Amino acid sequence: MSSHPDHYIKLANHAKKASHLQSVASLLGWDQETYMPSGGADARAEQVSLMAGLQHEMLTDPKLGDLIGACTADTSLSQGDTREAANIREMRRDYDKRTKIPGELVSALAEATSRAQHAWKEARENSDFASFKPMLDKVLDLTREKATCLSDGKGELYDALIDDYEPGAKASEIEAIFTPLKKEISDLVLNIAENGKPPNRDVLNRPITPAKQEAFGKFVAESCGFDFSRGRLDVTTHPFCEGVGPGDTRMTTRYRESSWTDSLYGIMHEMGHGLYEQGLPLGPSHGQSGESQIGLPCGEAVSLGIHESQSRLWENAVGCSLPFWKWALPHAKQFFGEVIGDQTPETMAASVTTAEPSLIRVEADEGTYNLHIMIRFELERAILSGDLDTADLPAAWNDAYKTYLGLDVPSDKEGVLQDVHWSFGLIGYFPTYTLGNLYAAQFWAQVRSENPELDNQIASGEFAPLLQWFRKNVHTHGRRYSPAQLCEKATGKPLSNEPLVSYLKDKLYPVYGL
Ligand code: ZN
Repeated sequence: MSSHPDHYIKLANHAKKASHLQSVASLLGWDQETYMPSGGADARAEQVSLMAGLQHEMLTDPKLGDLIGACTADTSLSQGDTREAANIREMRRDYDKRTKIPGELVSALAEATSRAQHAWKEARENSDFASFKPMLDKVLDLTREKATCLSDGKGELYDALIDDYEPGAKASEIEAIFTPLKKEISDLVLNIAENGKPPNRDVLNRPITPAKQEAFGKFVAESCGFDFSRGRLDVTTHPFCEGVGPGDTRMTTRYRESSWTDSLYGIMHEMGHGLYEQGLPLGPSHGQSGESQIGLPCGEAVSLGIHESQSRLWENAVGCSLPFWKWALPHAKQFFGEVIGDQTPETMAASVTTAEPSLIRVEADEGTYNLHIMIRFELERAILSGDLDTADLPAAWNDAYKTYLGLDVPSDKEGVLQDVHWSFGLIGYFPTYTLGNLYAAQFWAQVRSENPELDNQIASGEFAPLLQWFRKNVHTHGRRYSPAQLCEKATGKPLSNEPLVSYLKDKLYPVYGL
């Protein structure tokens, strides 16, 4: 950092301090989800809110604005394709966004979403959408106001919201990818439901103790490249992965005796997130090349979609494949014994490859998951713009599930009220899940075309070449490029739906004998 001018060093120091505050906040959150006794809940809520206030103060500090201004004006720093220029550009972007929303609107949103979450919980329990509607309308009003501040009245409001999760993404561009994708996947899923013969999957429900599941899950994660000297795996009700700080990436999962592959794929999913966090350019003391980017945008993950591409790739493309089971099954038999003694890599790979329509998104399989997301994207875009009245939302939801998944939705509890997102004001978040699957499929196709030995490597437990490709093409860049640029740099093409459609067809049809 010594070769940099004073204003850049000050800027980097400010960013580093802000990121340390973020680390403290996420450690509080992690502890709350894992080990905190319930008696600590009230004080913890106050601690979390204090931290959020301190962070906000630091990130909207006019002194930070001055430093960003000085660095931007210094064209020897702020121009060109360098990490420094990207850091300045991204810090400017973040600062402008944070300072655009008036404090009263932030408080009004916090209060409305807190009430809406409460109302949603009760409404879901009673399967009574009408009781949630007024709170949802209030949240939508305030969210529109927020989007208007962020967009300065330019463009579609939805774009201003999705920008928080997938910088630079536009609803119209997502629509152009999703609309044909929805038709393709729906046809595939309905064809399988009508004509496919599902394989025997009884192995998935054979009893295996949580202790054995955990030992095997850790073994798999370590073999794939997760560094346990810079990370942990713990138990929680709602699994997540959090980059708590440099050199400290925490994954969580849950175990059920009668469904051992749930925890395995839960771990592989969070491990994919964790490998990304561990591969960010944090400097030589973290085993990464170049100058440390701790606390700076180039040391951060670029978007939720790209993050999700990493988790879905390891969970599905790698974990649910025949090459993976050629390697993993002999090990699994050592950990679990005779209970899976009759299995072959072929039976395991077929057992975990599914496309069966179901009502609940979080339980959906790889084949059907994106339909749940694309339905939500269309509906939330329509209620935000006002094209769809929230009074008509449950009926629109049920219609979409009938059309695309062939399902009758028996109640709002299993329909429009199942997800917490809208009560939090999270509009524009859902599409990042499917963008993640699209990026994953496109990266996967590219890796395979560059490395014809990939299947053989995976079958012999050699995961390093795959991980290295992601280190080099995705992880090391942090936020240097936008998600769309990153995709194009890594694969030579803009994001498209073709790789995902081919991947799903190639994978699913043979399992169902089609
Ligand atoms: Zn995830």
